[in-house]
Amino acid sequence: SIVCFNFAFSFAVLSCNSSCLCRHQVLRISWPLTALIYFSFLCLLQLDFWKTPVRPEMPVDIRVPFPSLQAVKIFLESNGIRYSIMIEDLQTLVDEEQVQMARRHFMPRSVETFNYASYHSLDEIYDFMDLLVAENPSLISKIQIGKSYEGRPINILKFSTGGTNRPAIWIDTGIHSREWVTQASGVWFAKRILDDYGKDPSLTSILDSFDIFLEIVTNPDGFAFTHSKNRMWRKTRSINAGSSCVGVDPNRNWDAGFGMAGASGSPCTETYRGPHANSESEVKAIVDFVKQHGNIKAFISIHSYSQLLLYPYGYTQTKAADQQELDAVAKSAVTALSSLYGTKYKYGSIITTIYQASGGTIDWTYNQGIKYSYTFELRDTGRYGFMLPANQIIPTAEETWLGLMAIMEHTRDHPY
Ligand SMILES: [Zn+2]
Repeated sequence: SIVCFNFAFSFAVLSCNSSCLCRHQVLRISWPLTALIYFSFLCLLQLDFWKTPVRPEMPVDIRVPFPSLQAVKIFLESNGIRYSIMIEDLQTLVDEEQVQMARRHFMPRSVETFNYASYHSLDEIYDFMDLLVAENPSLISKIQIGKSYEGRPINILKFSTGGTNRPAIWIDTGIHSREWVTQASGVWFAKRILDDYGKDPSLTSILDSFDIFLEIVTNPDGFAFTHSKNRMWRKTRSINAGSSCVGVDPNRNWDAGFGMAGASGSPCTETYRGPHANSESEVKAIVDFVKQHGNIKAFISIHSYSQLLLYPYGYTQTKAADQQELDAVAKSAVTALSSLYGTKYKYGSIITTIYQASGGTIDWTYNQGIKYSYTFELRDTGRYGFMLPANQIIPTAEETWLGLMAIMEHTRDHPY
């Protein structure tokens, strides 16, 4: 309602500068009354839905700022709604993460000595990419595909053993900036590709006929902001005309069902779709690259958390034309992933597995003719959520790599 939006508008002005997550709690709340909370509290109480209301059997995780905590708990208890506290004090996890990061190598002299078991800043990841290219110029190059809203370069890595306009596989991580295990996994994937080429027969055969493009920091402004100001930042950092709320959800900004149900028209929400499709330079850069390339055969966009492997569609109930094949490949990818540490994944189309989401990345790439379009939601299922401890980075990346390999091998073996 208008009242609600106005309220959010004024409240956001007060709260946006606050960087401390002191005594913020993450509550897991059971359906069905979550819908009530959604409508009555969303704007007023600055709730942050980590997992959005979906279906009866699925719980909802919500970050509740400390000033709202009492009101939310009173509301839940007085309405008999069951909830549990997933994270007692979010700032404690942020502090622990900072302590861990303080122990990392600041200036790795080589790709070998880089600390893959730590989270890193944007500058460190960009330095890593430069090191990787400098040490391996015959295999790896860096391409700047655009500039972010705040003017940062948008870089991708190209792994190529030659040829011109070979078919390609695209992998991106970190389009939602707070999903830190994804960028960290992207860094690890780059090293893994380097290590495996010429040693692992399967990866070698893929790279002998395909190029691999890897965008590790897909939302550089947001990522920088998660380090400097607000660890929980998800969106881009673009200024919204007529609103004090900043940023667009870059996974609702693509030209596929744009503006339909499953995205928000309000700049103050976490799923704000933006003023028009491709309004975000971070999205437009990929759109232009994909169109110009014209020969991308698999497109894998990586998020966290929830442990899911998803394929189109998100904006419509209409089944993808390749639904059966996509589902079979997802099943084999999830089986491969789980074989390493037993991590359990669900898989299916976006709209049937999580919720209706419009303007999403892989719906657009699929509609562009890229058949093998997938989205991963990495670890965990909510114990830590976006604050996954650094000691889970390498195990997460390792298992995910097995899933990626299954998709890439299938792409290699099924030319179209
Ligand atoms: Zn995400």
